[in-house]
Amino acid sequence: AKAGEPVLSARGLRKEFAGFVAVKDVSLDLHDGQIKALIGPNGAGKSTVFNLLTKFLKPTAGTIAFMGQDITRLDPARVARLGLVRSFQISAVFPHLTVRENVRVALQRPQGLGHQFWLGLGSLERLDARADELLADVGLTEHAGHLAADLSYGRKRVLEIATTLALDPRVLLLDEPMAGMGHEDVGHVAQLIARVAEDRALLMVEHNLKVVADLCDEIVVLQRGEIIAEGDYATVSRNPQVREAYMGT
Ligand code: ADP
Ligand code: MG
Repeated sequence: AKAGEPVLSARGLRKEFAGFVAVKDVSLDLHDGQIKALIGPNGAGKSTVFNLLTKFLKPTAGTIAFMGQDITRLDPARVARLGLVRSFQISAVFPHLTVRENVRVALQRPQGLGHQFWLGLGSLERLDARADELLADVGLTEHAGHLAADLSYGRKRVLEIATTLALDPRVLLLDEPMAGMGHEDVGHVAQLIARVAEDRALLMVEHNLKVVADLCDEIVVLQRGEIIAEGDYATVSRNPQVREAYMGT
């Protein structure tokens, strides 16, 4: 993308499931270094927007551009390779592998950049070294040899973030990275997200407006598949539609 242009840009996204309109005319831009939140009540269409942006779902209408390239018709593996990577709302670690092995698998994933890279370099030691680097980045070094199954819930979610980072994303989409976490883990993940976003753009789904208030420079509010408000926390939280529909005040 040229300077000042969004790295990710969606225009007029629409998704119908057997006639039910889950996402309706959603347009959004994401710029380098930006942390944007996508919030809204359950069923608002947040995960569907993620699936559309990362091509896990085909839009009924609309276009998506990534770094100036039209990706509307590409498949998920292809967009991941280009650097548009997402996590899932439901935990996706391999419980019977160690923490390090989970990251190693991510580095070797066929759709990952790591695959091509490491096939060239070959050696397991280098793969492990890269895995350990990533684990250090996310603060899981002391758990590298533990089974993923034995991690606390919060650390499992952190491991998931590490596996997405293994794909070296330019844009990272995190679906409820803090869902179900205790206060302490939320703080830890918030710090991690802020750090991760220093050299990439990040879009996160989050239920809790308070959680995103500090972390995100822009908030997009979705309700019944439509954007009802966007802007910084002050702007969004003043919006009467948001207050009524989402904050219950
Ligand atoms: P959110 O992530 O905001 O909770 P979703 O994007 O998961 O919401 O869902 C938005 C709406 O679309 C919901 O009403 C959901 O039931 C519906 N929906 C999502 N995925 C499908 C699907 N594959 N088939 C049919 N309906 C779906
Ligand atoms: Mg969801």
